[in-house]
Amino acid sequence: MPEPLWRAALDWTHQQGQVELSASGAGESVQQVLPIADKAEGLEAMVKTLVDGPTQVLDSLSDIDAVGHRVVHGGREYIDSVRIDDQVKAAIQRLIPLAPAHNPANLQGIEAMEGILGDIPQVAVFDTAFHARMPEAAATYPGPYAWVEQGIRRYGFHGISHQYVAQRAADMVGRDLADLKLLTCHLGNGCSLAAVKGGLSVDTTMGFTPLEGLMMGSRSGSVDPGILIYLIRQEGYSADQLDTLLNKESGLKGLSGLSNDMRSVVEAMEQGNERARLAVDVFIHRLRREMGGMIASLGGLEAVVFTAGIGENSPLVWQRACEGFEFLGVRLKDELGRAKEDQDIAVADSRVRALVIHTQEEWAIAQACIGLL
Ligand code: ADP
Repeated sequence: MPEPLWRAALDWTHQQGQVELSASGAGESVQQVLPIADKAEGLEAMVKTLVDGPTQVLDSLSDIDAVGHRVVHGGREYIDSVRIDDQVKAAIQRLIPLAPAHNPANLQGIEAMEGILGDIPQVAVFDTAFHARMPEAAATYPGPYAWVEQGIRRYGFHGISHQYVAQRAADMVGRDLADLKLLTCHLGNGCSLAAVKGGLSVDTTMGFTPLEGLMMGSRSGSVDPGILIYLIRQEGYSADQLDTLLNKESGLKGLSGLSNDMRSVVEAMEQGNERARLAVDVFIHRLRREMGGMIASLGGLEAVVFTAGIGENSPLVWQRACEGFEFLGVRLKDELGRAKEDQDIAVADSRVRALVIHTQEEWAIAQACIGLL
């Protein structure tokens, strides 16, 4: 993957009306807190660092050929990347009920770029697309048949990342992706697994929403739906309260009572905090259990891949996750450490490779733009 010429980010977690802008390019980097009211204004300030100041890498914004966007939900209609037009924007809008936390921001980004860059080709790359060809049996929930007709099905997410790391894994082991069965583990704030067979996602742990499957930073992952019925009946919970409870107050944060950040929770565990230990134990238990499910859907396994914040950086998670699969021939090296480069952490004669791959969603989106335009 080529090094990016420039990259920039906006951190909106400062106090109301303030945004931290960081940008790097031309061997320089800048960081500043700006008074910024809305997304469009923030994006404009960010884009300006391409043509202005120490991080300048372009003479003019008209040098930009295209803008690619990660759009979380493409529904049943959009199963490949697509050039954005009014119809595509209307579809992203229509799909907001399926991704209320993400699709509105994606749409804002697209419209802000129109405002900043004018009539430039823009491409939507959908996080659901990689999973869209999953077998019906994996995609269908065993509720009433009406759900099938209503589009209540497994969509799956993190597709751009799962697809990128699967291809990269094939390159690393020097084999054709079409011949491989891969288990890809995207473990960040949001966590999901995918079963990638012959280059296609045949199963994944996230479902109708990004709430299903693994335990996450502040999301519960799968729980007995009967718990929700119980909370509604006995405690009078509303839909909004359940949404907050399951998405923001559960997972590592909920169980540990400390943080949604794996680093802090592990640190507390090492200092003897019992709730932190429980949180990590449950995280690992659920991870292994779901890994087992994905391996069953694959019917074999050439490599397990770890990616995203936790997956790229936590030897403890690699070790404890893989311990469950020694019987399948997954054997890790004794000395495990983080590295800047992608690495194979399995011993030379391990029957299954174990790869740590830095996900490159931006590069995957750029490639989708190149492919389409
Ligand atoms: P997002 O899903 O928001 O893109 P990231 O992929 O950046 O998130 O992952 C964030 C998670 O990665 C956090 O839980 C953080 O604790 C974890 N993480 C980052 N560095 C480390 C590390 N060195 N060891 C363990 N966990 C880490």
